[in-house]
Amino acid sequence: MSGMPALKLSDHAVDFIDEAFINGLLAGKRPDKARVREIIAKSLAKEALSVRETAALILADTPELNEEIFETARQLKKNVYGNRIVLFAPLYIGNKCINNCSYCAFKRSNTLAIRRTLNQDEIRQQVEALENKGHKRLILVFGEHRAYDAEFIAKSVRTVYETRVGHGEIRRVNINAAPLDHEGYATVKAAGIGTYQIFHETYHHETYARFHPADTRKGNYIYRLDGLSRAFEAGCDDVGLGVLFGLYDWKFEVMSLVTHALHLQDRYNVGPHTISFPRLRPAAGVDLNEKYLVSDDDFKRIIAILRLAVPYTGLILTARENAQVRRECMSFGVSQIDAGSRIELGGYTEAGDAQVMEREQFQLGDVRSLDEVMRELMTDGYVPSFCTSCYRVGRTGEHFMEFSIPGFIKEFCTPNALLTLEEYLADYASPETREVGERLIVEELVKLPEGDIKDMVVKRLDEIRAGGKRDLYF
Ligand code: SAM
Ligand code: SF4
Repeated sequence: MSGMPALKLSDHAVDFIDEAFINGLLAGKRPDKARVREIIAKSLAKEALSVRETAALILADTPELNEEIFETARQLKKNVYGNRIVLFAPLYIGNKCINNCSYCAFKRSNTLAIRRTLNQDEIRQQVEALENKGHKRLILVFGEHRAYDAEFIAKSVRTVYETRVGHGEIRRVNINAAPLDHEGYATVKAAGIGTYQIFHETYHHETYARFHPADTRKGNYIYRLDGLSRAFEAGCDDVGLGVLFGLYDWKFEVMSLVTHALHLQDRYNVGPHTISFPRLRPAAGVDLNEKYLVSDDDFKRIIAILRLAVPYTGLILTARENAQVRRECMSFGVSQIDAGSRIELGGYTEAGDAQVMEREQFQLGDVRSLDEVMRELMTDGYVPSFCTSCYRVGRTGEHFMEFSIPGFIKEFCTPNALLTLEEYLADYASPETREVGERLIVEELVKLPEGDIKDMVVKRLDEIRAGGKRDLYF
């Protein structure tokens, strides 16, 4: 890019997306039942799949094989990952942007967008509103702009952690922002961030170039692809991948996500903490006439195949999807969702019932309240969790530990989920939700093995309920 300063990449940076290799695998023939079952057995043993095995699952597209894959995803969710769903909310800090990604309402050419950057006081107000609803985990979202440099991101993170109202506090702040340089990652890490997310949007080079003009920072494919490698080198080992589904063939994108996850695992010994799979949504000033839009059925296949392919990675399903799709997809291995989300700048205090497209990046599909989503989850047998314990006691790679250490879920995850749920019920829930929640806690306690841990959970639940204690965790 002429006129742009040279950008420093990670050591040994390489474009690891080999299109000919991926396309070759996707052009293979449909695997037989025995082969699919072999791969399924590997998934059930919590082994990561290779890209070749992932391709086989993608090619296994008969109704019968497909159902086996869905059933395996459900089984993994139920028996291996458990029924917890971690809840968070997005907080948009600023929508100024130097880039021009054609699918996004924040693109610089969009004259309809109302540009705004929250100042630290406004961030505080938004966080108080979120805490008053019961949130404990946020993701801060930024456009790409010199005003949103690493210092500004770090300052915003500190403001969030410092903001407290009543029993409310934010215990984990994740980030979705432009790729940084090594120094930038070190700066945001020092502010205590959780996961740093960068979505590659589309891994297909030609399509990437079409959506991200060459005269923009984001137009630099390798700088973005390498973004999370730099994060690792700078000491941020908690990172999130994602693709914006609808820009290119979903099969190619799933193969690329798995390739990226394996690359990080090989090079840094740690895979991504999460994978997100947003689907393209209507947005102000954006023409959505894309030929690769993903159907609901294919969307479910994407989630199930990812669940089988990357056992140690959390899967995030966002409120871009509508309530019904979210409910249907939950059983395929989703581990985190946002709820009660508003993405207009200042939306948690200023927005009415209707979304204002000029103030948001895209239209959300699910703007139900946190309380309503919690109630539905619990009615469906899921345990909503606000747990942040691993990250706070320095057990990084929490998702990895959950599944690699025998008994970890029963000793840590479920107890912590129940304690954070009880806090929510005591401080923020509506009477109907509290009733459903208390019933669920009783049912979950029955399932916990008898012993010291269970006794401690019962005691701590009581300390929260009757003793006014908060923030108890294992
Ligand atoms: N500006 C930073 C960047 O591009 O990396 C931060 C990310 S942006 C604020 C958050 C994500 O929203 C993007 O990475 C993209 O995947 C997604 N997004 C953008 N436009 C969208 C749309 N119309 N529908 C759904 N998701 C969209
Ligand atoms: Fe800017 Fe990110 Fe939107 Fe692209 S996706 S226009 S970089 S906010």
